[in-house]
Amino acid sequence: MNHTKSEELFVKAKAIIPGGVNSPVRAFKSAGCNPIFIAKAAGSKIYDVDGNEYIDYVGSWGPMILGHCHPKVVEAIQKTAASGASFGAPTPLETELAEIVCEAYPNIEKVRMVSSGTEATMSAIRLARGYTGRDKILKFDGCYHGHADSLLVKAGSGLATFGVPTSPGVPADFAKYTLTANYNDLANVQELVAANKGEIACIILEAVAGNMGCVPPVKGFLQELRDLCTAEGIILIIDEVMTGFRVAYGGAQERFGVRGDLVCLGKIIGGGLPVGAFGGKREIMDSLSPEGGVYQAGTLSGNPLAMSAGIATLKLLQQEGFYQQLEEKAAYLEKGVQQVAGNSPIATCWQRVGGMFCTYFQEGPVNNFDAALASDTEAFGRYFRSMLDQGINLAPAQFEAGFISISHSKEDLDKTIAALEKALATV
Ligand code: PMP
Repeated sequence: MNHTKSEELFVKAKAIIPGGVNSPVRAFKSAGCNPIFIAKAAGSKIYDVDGNEYIDYVGSWGPMILGHCHPKVVEAIQKTAASGASFGAPTPLETELAEIVCEAYPNIEKVRMVSSGTEATMSAIRLARGYTGRDKILKFDGCYHGHADSLLVKAGSGLATFGVPTSPGVPADFAKYTLTANYNDLANVQELVAANKGEIACIILEAVAGNMGCVPPVKGFLQELRDLCTAEGIILIIDEVMTGFRVAYGGAQERFGVRGDLVCLGKIIGGGLPVGAFGGKREIMDSLSPEGGVYQAGTLSGNPLAMSAGIATLKLLQQEGFYQQLEEKAAYLEKGVQQVAGNSPIATCWQRVGGMFCTYFQEGPVNNFDAALASDTEAFGRYFRSMLDQGINLAPAQFEAGFISISHSKEDLDKTIAALEKALATV
């Protein structure tokens, strides 16, 4: 495949943008090649500036559950843009999206819109601290909740890929308020809670961990965490930035039947535009300014374009059978992948929840961050490069999830399975 224009653009970008990218994992660094620069996308396909076509499983890291450029989403954005891009004042669109979100998540009684997942988790944590009057928080190794200081401790995603689980620049005095536990290990959480009794404001987690690949919660883990939080007066924050409207319309909380006190959303609810949201129990949310004293704000919060794209997207997700169809597509891909992988001498382990998945280069199963780190990342790199060369666009790192959209056709999935067979032969 010819990548001449991408290579030229990368040289230019590197001269003025750190690493040539505006978000680290986009650099393809751990995959051992340079990034492709994108010109456009449509449906399940994405096209680079050299004119190469790829079947896309990145989907902008999750938001594009409908595929790219769904006509109804494009139309909604265009229509809204013609009336003004931003006012910094309330619009009816914000309430409309808030109503859709509250209906989908019964434990979200009030919700506030922000502009990214990072802002959603950062604000939810401030709110939990303000509401409880406690300073410490507990997160899980390998979970990523955006790049606010107190959350960049033993985090997944790019930090795992680049081997800096706790970022330089986060003062030790901040990090000391962040306790970290092993994912799927309730005993570890119980120990930490007992050792910090009455001091923990919140426990935050990805109910399916999608930033160390794709790690489902083991049976009982979420409910036991829920019970522990209730007993100890700890706010349970379920970060559904990735899983919300993805693993079910009502997210991981609907799928696993466990509810947080606060919930963070992002990605899909903005239909590809910059959005995040956090919401939950009325009593907690009313601690936010201007009702309460916990401050949180944003010039572009509730931006009309983003609200329109989100509303149009979520309305399409309400169509009868949408999630069943997505599940069927994902299950079809899973069956093909497992058949091919089963016939290969290369050790791989496929894990999936709904429309998100990961192929680990190891035997598995992977239940936590330490297990994820045992993957053969060199082999992953060879697999990634072979897939890309065959026109399959995957997340360029082992510790990221892949995403299936409703626009992936059987032909797309068959091509992907055939490409995997070839890729495994080269790994
Ligand atoms: N939480 C989770 C679970 C995420 O996956 C991400 C981003 N991948 C974030 C928070 C941060 O969202 P953003 O990149 O929009 O700041």
